[in-house]
Amino acid sequence: MPATKLPKDFESQMLELLGKAEFEQFKQAINNPSRTSIRLNSDKDFSLSWANTPIPWSKTGFFLEERPSFTLDPAIHAGAYYVQEASSIFIEHLLNSLAIPKGIYLDLAAAPGGKSTLLSAYLGNEGMLVANEVIQPRAQILKENIIKWGLGNTVVTNNDPDHFAPLQGFFDLVLVDAPCSGEGMFRKDPQARDEWSLDNVQLCSARQKRIMDQAGALVKADGYLVYSTCTFNEQENENMIRFLTEEFSYEPVRIPLDASWNIKETEVDADGKTFYGYRFFPHLVEGEGFFITVWKRSSEAYIQEPKRVKDFKHPFLKEVFNRESSILDEELGFDGTGKYFTLNDSYFRISKDWTLHFQKLSLHLSLKYFGVELGKKQKKDWIPNHEWALSTLPKKDFPAHELSESEAIEFLRKNDIEIPDLPIGWVLITYKELPLGWIKNLGNRVNNYYPKEWRIRM
Ligand code: SAM
Repeated sequence: MPATKLPKDFESQMLELLGKAEFEQFKQAINNPSRTSIRLNSDKDFSLSWANTPIPWSKTGFFLEERPSFTLDPAIHAGAYYVQEASSIFIEHLLNSLAIPKGIYLDLAAAPGGKSTLLSAYLGNEGMLVANEVIQPRAQILKENIIKWGLGNTVVTNNDPDHFAPLQGFFDLVLVDAPCSGEGMFRKDPQARDEWSLDNVQLCSARQKRIMDQAGALVKADGYLVYSTCTFNEQENENMIRFLTEEFSYEPVRIPLDASWNIKETEVDADGKTFYGYRFFPHLVEGEGFFITVWKRSSEAYIQEPKRVKDFKHPFLKEVFNRESSILDEELGFDGTGKYFTLNDSYFRISKDWTLHFQKLSLHLSLKYFGVELGKKQKKDWIPNHEWALSTLPKKDFPAHELSESEAIEFLRKNDIEIPDLPIGWVLITYKELPLGWIKNLGNRVNNYYPKEWRIRM
């Protein structure tokens, strides 16, 4: 498909930013096809069978030589990997190279969940992530991706940034991957060119300031604030550094770079200090347009530690107490590091270490999901939930049955599958040993419990 022309005002803006010679290279690059890349889930045992090349700034990201049909690969439905644009995987390098302390993190603009799954992987069992999305249908997609990723360390919320006001000084790291004018997507999504205008840049910049005005206050003393966009103009990028330093007291942070990556470091002088931004141009790096910057909050800022709530009361959530908790651990073969809650009679597990933080969050935010939903109990029997199947938690003593690729696709289509000699009761379905979901053998028939709203329709 021939690419549509670039908007005139955009051309002038880029010419000013890059100069004539580089602008020509840029124009050529955005008319070439983009490379498909994925990030592996290191907590699920899976290796790529497609030809691939490592993304230079990542340990888990790979460029694929060809774009396969992801929908028809059962491994993606098992959360074995996430399809993610290479530049944005740089956040993995940011976290590792700066050795950012783990703790409670917030991804304020999180759907569909690329960066949230990355943060969840970094935190592992040493932290808790709040993945928030303001737009309801997008929050649903975010929830699905978090469930597939399966680490059980994430709370999914559906709130406006304003609703976080009671959580000032609460987070060790806040990421704002801001809604932006999308200039960096002109190659991948040519429609973005038609939607671009200078007015829209203004609009985006004003919205970003409103979001950052909230986000800046949520970081605790010595915590980190990360801001990113997929656009090139200075208004939505370097100007945000100036804006934030006028509003709050933050220190600059410099990210170590390898010169061969061709990522451009830009400097912004503000508040008597030099701050840094990192720019990804498609004519210089193998990835889409991207901007990222990171600040460290001053040591004098406020820290909000959640207090023990003597009598935790919530309109829907019920806390599970010690005796029942120990029984659950024993029944499920869990290691005792979990805290349980029930919601509509279904059991959920989060890490015990984050109970107080979770209680506080639950009182202020609209929860879409949290930890791992295990399922319901009927006397001593469990009706296991799909979310448990996809999580990395042990699956009790449920028998497992491995499917071939074509059988797994039938299972994901929620079609009936015939399996001889299947034990009676709940059976965990796996593909390449990755759990995909549940079936129940009733003796005279087998029910497929794959969630109907998730089934593949190809
Ligand atoms: N971080 C995501 C990822 O890596 O998959 C992509 C986030 S996307 C660039 C920006 C998100 O901000 C969108 O999901 C959009 O719905 C959300 N958004 C739109 N308006 C917003 C607002 N006023 N406040 C917060 N988020 C907003």
